[in-house]
Amino acid sequence: MAEGRRAVSVCDVLASIRRVAEACGRDASEIQLVAVSKQQPDDVVEAALAAGQRVFGENRVQEALQRWSARRDRFPDLTLHLVGPLQTNKVRAALELFDVIETVDRERIAARISEIGKETGRRPRLYVQVNTGEEPQKAGVAPSATAQFVAACREEYGLEIEGLMAIPPADAPPAPHFALLAKLADEAGAPKLSMGMSGDFEEAVQMGATSVRVGSAVFGARPARG
Ligand SMILES: *Cc1c(COP(=O)(O)O)cnc(C)c1O
Repeated sequence: MAEGRRAVSVCDVLASIRRVAEACGRDASEIQLVAVSKQQPDDVVEAALAAGQRVFGENRVQEALQRWSARRDRFPDLTLHLVGPLQTNKVRAALELFDVIETVDRERIAARISEIGKETGRRPRLYVQVNTGEEPQKAGVAPSATAQFVAACREEYGLEIEGLMAIPPADAPPAPHFALLAKLADEAGAPKLSMGMSGDFEEAVQMGATSVRVGSAVFGARPARG
């Protein structure tokens, strides 16, 4: 590792997840760490791989292809999550690369995933993104539309939706948003919960997260996008 660069702390984050899970009577093995590697330099990503981390998140399809296409051959056990917005013209590329798409949030995307899935046989695991804070600038279905949208994904497009994902508002306590997401997941019969980031993953684990998406706490602060 380059001198002066802080070590990646996959192990520290895993230890925190384990500690919080045990403190609230959960089995830590039910909680997946998705290491969000967007914008991170290659050396810290390699360090995370060397530490044994195999589940990664990216928020841009093109950037993810560049980083992971070749690494897939070196690490056949990788699991890649798309955690950023998906455009209809990127669905084909996203289905080729990603094992999990966490940001299904409108019928056009559901339809396209279904169509290209049939054509290619690629069936990634899927989450519906919910805009729990109903923020106009943020992606995701409205809380009140969630159950209906999940049902439409299943019935009209033949998609299996395994859970819900949310990014709570940056300037509000996250706990009510985590609680809302858990309630909506229960109502929709999509029990997996992708919630919690560097600043609040411990709280998310307490509130039932089955995966946490942690970037800077694993890799260090992201360099600005060039
Ligand atoms: C960047 C990002 C994360 C990770 O954020 P950190 O605060 O660095 O942990 C998690 N989820 C999504 C959707 C992201 O875009």
